[in-house]
Amino acid sequence: MKRTAKPEFLRPPAFAYQCAVRGGAQPALFCESVALERLAASHGTPLYVYSAAMIRERIRAFAHAFRSVPHTLCYSVKANSSLAILRLIARAGAGFDVVSGGELERVLRVDGHAAKRVVFSGVGKTVPEMELALRAGILLFNIESASELEALAETAARVKRQAAIAVRVNPDVSAKTHPYISTGLHEHKFGVPIPEAGTLYSKAAKQPYLRVAGVSVHIGSQITDVSSFAAALERVAGLVRTLRTEGHDIRYVDAGGGLGISYEGAAENFAQRISAYARAVLKPLRRSNVHLLLEPGRSIVGPAGVLLTRVIYRKTNNSRRFLIVDAAMNDLLRPSLYRAYHEIVPVTRSAEDTETTDVVGPICETGDFLARDRELPVVREGDLLAILDTGAYGAVLGSNYNTRGKPAEVLVDGAKARVIRDRESVRDQMRLERL
Ligand SMILES: *Cc1c(COP(=O)(O)O)cnc(C)c1O
Repeated sequence: MKRTAKPEFLRPPAFAYQCAVRGGAQPALFCESVALERLAASHGTPLYVYSAAMIRERIRAFAHAFRSVPHTLCYSVKANSSLAILRLIARAGAGFDVVSGGELERVLRVDGHAAKRVVFSGVGKTVPEMELALRAGILLFNIESASELEALAETAARVKRQAAIAVRVNPDVSAKTHPYISTGLHEHKFGVPIPEAGTLYSKAAKQPYLRVAGVSVHIGSQITDVSSFAAALERVAGLVRTLRTEGHDIRYVDAGGGLGISYEGAAENFAQRISAYARAVLKPLRRSNVHLLLEPGRSIVGPAGVLLTRVIYRKTNNSRRFLIVDAAMNDLLRPSLYRAYHEIVPVTRSAEDTETTDVVGPICETGDFLARDRELPVVREGDLLAILDTGAYGAVLGSNYNTRGKPAEVLVDGAKARVIRDRESVRDQMRLERL
């Protein structure tokens, strides 16, 4: 699909073109009050840049949309696990959804008291990870199989810590998203089929160190049709009723994450999107009287980040145009992995003319592309581009393929910008190797 990078393109409030104060200059892209060109000049490229104001604002929007019910926002750490961003989110009052012991350690590192707002998800929790979470005293374990339930019961008894549990059910609902990030169909590895959940709850209720506390569901990611959430939560609400008749004390419903964002350039109306999402989630639960847990990741941090990259070379092969840039699939995997679309804009707008081109990295793989057949304003070698909406599943999916160091990361807050992760050197990469 061809997209035009509209010159009037804006991502309010965090990323927008502004004119430099002293007259005549071309409009240039800013993050809050900081010119992206200046950040690239000081810190090099590729460079991730995040807006603190935008992250805070999106957390506030969630709180506002769900203000009518008792709820806890448990930000999904896997979307972006930078310590500075986790601290910002903790300070905004949110809790966390972790899917590994490592993520839990990150959370505890930024906020020693955060455990009571942490839920632990994932199909393959190991005993050491369970032990870490039990000792930290987390809010809830989302259990995904009978074997896992058994392992947790044994571990909890051994360390003498109570574990509050929910069973993550698989509601057999299509999320209408990319197959790799859809999780709620019966053929997926995630969750427990609803008809089998009752058995797990009865088993859990017999365990002295387990406390049945909730029902969880998560049907996938980048979901823009909110009716999928409504369908999943209808089934969850039904299960809550059944479990309560059987005597289980269900206090929590964990509705998971998955709310999609607008990657395709249309300035999104987040307030509208989130209120539609809240309606879809809340309507099936309106008589359930539960404490709602929400696990958004992408919708909090996705639009709050850009990846800055410089054009190294222009090249034409048999009339196919390429912009070879210094960012690659090791920095941003989503286009290669999911054929995901990310808007790309020049940081300084100069040319009026556009051209159709591929935007590719230096890695020795044909799959190393950031955009294909993209209509972009004509840019020169050395120009700076911003790849938008890369705050979620960007840096975290990075690798060292081709011995490329992970990019530096900068967090902007108003007029302040600070490095929150240094650029990785080759020495850093070789540190754990032995000759
Ligand atoms: C990935 C994940 C999330 C977050 O999904 P987003 O699409 O980023 O909102 C929430 N809960 C669980 C269990 C997940 O695996």
